[in-house]
Order: sequence, then structure tokens, then C-alpha cells
Amino acid sequence: KSFADMKFPPAILKALAKKNIEKPSPIQMQGIPAVLTGRDIIGIAFTGSGKSLVFILPLVMFCLEQETALPFQEDEGPYGLIIVPSRELAKQIVENVEYIAQFLVADGLPEIRVCLAIGGEPVPAALSVIRRGVHVMVATPGRLIDMLDKKMFRLDVCRYLVMDEADRMIDMGFEEDVRTIYSYFKDQRQTLLFSATMPKKIQNFARSALVRPVTVNV
Ligand code: AMP
Repeated sequence: KSFADMKFPPAILKALAKKNIEKPSPIQMQGIPAVLTGRDIIGIAFTGSGKSLVFILPLVMFCLEQETALPFQEDEGPYGLIIVPSRELAKQIVENVEYIAQFLVADGLPEIRVCLAIGGEPVPAALSVIRRGVHVMVATPGRLIDMLDKKMFRLDVCRYLVMDEADRMIDMGFEEDVRTIYSYFKDQRQTLLFSATMPKKIQNFARSALVRPVTVNV
């Protein structure tokens, strides 16, 4: 199966090809169709496996569909929230989403806006994106909770939650924070949990946080 078989628009195929991403990696081959079914997913994958695209590409598609059906209002969003344990990882994911977004705009597709919410970055920078309406937010738990507590944005329309490097997140003591973030969600969401390892602690966490998840392990 190729990326084209997965029905991604030409703009996305172009963006991938320009980075020499021609053939889906094993985790992408299994993971992307699984995510596209709408089920909750546990992805067991290391950095370097290509796992980021497993959650980024379906999220971008979801945002495009939403945007086409009902264009975004100011102060709306995010549709998708990606929480990660480190600032570096957050920045990397934002860059990846922005990279793909450029190709969408170049092809006349809607602009997908992404926002970084991490400690050490000025909150006003995030706020100016939020005010225009933000599709995707990438955050570390502490800063995110701070912004949610201060009502800087809401998760009312958020339908897609990714926890990347969940094992590191739990090891760093973020479990309580992640549960707090959960409490801000309204309605149904699709939850994707990615972890390099699956110790008991993460299994228990996943059991309580996901609904009938499909496990993708390559
Ligand atoms: P990740 O595991 O998501 O952090 O990705 C690791 C690196 O692999 C990134 O630099 C990606 O651009 C690259 N990559 C992701 N998917 C593929 C693919 N299917 N073929 C070649 N490179 C890829």
C-alpha cells in the first residue's frame, strides 16, 4: 500500500515526496488505516519508526474535512491536541505540521493553523494564533494546564487527542496532569497513545484512558 492508496491529496503526497518519504514505513502501513477508522489506538513505536506521520496525517485530513464542511470561526479550536513530554518534541511536531500545511495552501486547500504551547515560549505568541482559530495544538502538559486553567482556550470542539511518548510522560510524573487535561474535554474524542515501551503502568493508564483500543505494534 502506498500513501496514494491511502487517499491523501496530491499536496500531501508532494510534501512527503519532497522529503523522500515515498513508501509507508511498517507502523504507517498499519497505523494510518487504523487511525482513519476512528478507533482509539495504542501505537507501540520508537522514534525513527515514522510514528509522527501516523497521527499527523489523519489529523490534517480531519481538519481539512472540518474546514471544508464548516469554516473555522475566530477563537475556535483546537480540533486536535497533541501532548508530548518535551519541548523539543513539541517543536518538531509543529514544524512537521507546518511543513505539510504549506503544501496544502500552495494547492489552494484551506490553511491549517498549528500552535505551540510549551513552557519557555511566550504565552502571547500562542494566544495570537488561538485568537485566529487554531486547528492543531501541540503542548507539554504543564503549560497546557496553565492555559486551560486561565481559560485562554477550551477543548469543546477537540475531537482528537494524541499522547506521544506516553511512557516518558508517565515516567516524568505527568499522569495526573494528563488526567486533568482529560477533564477539559467535552463529548467524544478519538485518543491515540504512542509509546516505545508498554510496562504495566502504561497498560493500566491506557486501559483507563482509551475506549476499546486497537493496538498497532510492528
Ligand atoms: P518519527 O519516527 O516520526 O520521528 O520519524 C523519523 C524520521 O523518519 C523523520 O525524519 C521522518 O521525516 C522520516 N520518515 C517518516 N516516515 C518515513 C517514510 N515512510 N520513509 C522515509 N522516511 C520517513
